Amino acid sequence: QARVLAPDTAVFDLIKQEKVRQTHGIELIASENYVSEQVMRAQGSILTNKYAEGLPGKRYYGGCEIVDQIEQLAIDRAKELFGVAWVNVQPHSGAQANAAVMLAILNPGDKILGFDLSHGGHLTHGSPVNFSGKLYQPSFYGVEKETGLIDFQKVKETARREKPKLIICGASAYSRDWDYQALREAADEVGALLLADISHPSGLIAKGLLNNPFQHCHIVTTTTHKTLRGPRGGLIMMGQDFENPFGLKTPKGETRMMSALLDSGVFPGTQGGPLEHVIGAKAVAFGEALTDTYADYTRQVVANAQALAGAFVERGYELISGGTDNHLMLIDLRSKGLTGKLAENTLVKADITINKNMVPFDDKSPFVTSGMRIGSAAVTTRGLREPDMVRIVEFIDEALTHNADDARLAKVRGEINEWMQQYPLFS
Ligand code: PLP
Repeated sequence: QARVLAPDTAVFDLIKQEKVRQTHGIELIASENYVSEQVMRAQGSILTNKYAEGLPGKRYYGGCEIVDQIEQLAIDRAKELFGVAWVNVQPHSGAQANAAVMLAILNPGDKILGFDLSHGGHLTHGSPVNFSGKLYQPSFYGVEKETGLIDFQKVKETARREKPKLIICGASAYSRDWDYQALREAADEVGALLLADISHPSGLIAKGLLNNPFQHCHIVTTTTHKTLRGPRGGLIMMGQDFENPFGLKTPKGETRMMSALLDSGVFPGTQGGPLEHVIGAKAVAFGEALTDTYADYTRQVVANAQALAGAFVERGYELISGGTDNHLMLIDLRSKGLTGKLAENTLVKADITINKNMVPFDDKSPFVTSGMRIGSAAVTTRGLREPDMVRIVEFIDEALTHNADDARLAKVRGEINEWMQQYPLFS
């Protein structure tokens, strides 16, 4: 039987179901957010049809006059938003941004020093299952067992011992701010470059709510879809351009500025054509992030995270490091006799989405874990405020306390679904 083109109900029915899922429940995954309608409109646009290898004004394809302007808008807005001299807006994701940086400045076998994945770091900071741990020689720093905090003097000692060529800071599950100055001192002592991966808190950093990495870190990467509230993607930035310190050459054998090396690390190093529809959506999101409304949003994200943390502590939950400076927190569930896996599976039955997460010095596997990670970025976009955070923690506690009682979980789910109707998401 011939197959003919027809509306793809299989896919669009599932998208409808996903829309219902996102609307009915409480979204607490720290890396997720809800983008605006205009971000979605740009990403779902005809820009997806265009090939544009190269950079604005220097493309390998014809017909790029319009996408050049769009990409330039994204570049200019990102520069203004973060107060930086140089950006590349093309990385398809956070992992791609980190891959492009490492390809640009390292040789295979070079030493790198990153934050331990099991303490809250990211796969791309040297994990043995990732390119960063396979191509380069990783070593790691972590948090202190007693405090849950990074001791930056100890990072300096590790750097002196390991002599890495690249030090990476930034995390997926660290709720405290970073001492970029101490890390730069560590890097300078051993002649390393310092990369900050601010994927998680980049929106809060853009609005001055956390320490500024650009003063101290040579290179900064971020995703665009977490607190920054843009489309899924990545970004590479530098406070200012500089001559590369390792005598690195471009593929043509020329010694060039770091910006040229990073550009070629993205294309042709690790990517082909840029996703101009995503870059259009990034431009829209950066425009939104330049507004006072977004500044208010980021302040509320932090206030909500603190309200969540306070409510958890009040109910006897153990937070790694005791609290949060940013939008997320990591909760050790062992004192409650629970695993991360059980918590994730229980809460999803109540339409609360979180993720299980390793805690520092975890004795369980990554598939089970002893912790859960919670973030306030998405619920804040939804319009929830501090008193709502207390109510969310009450729901979480009720569900986890009665995790074997399906009727009770269904009742919690019903209450949440009714509550969330007051916060419509999409028109
Ligand atoms: N870096 C950090 C610190 C992250 O938390 C993440 C994603 O969670 C990434 C990089 C990777 O981003 P992506 O999933 O867009 O590749």
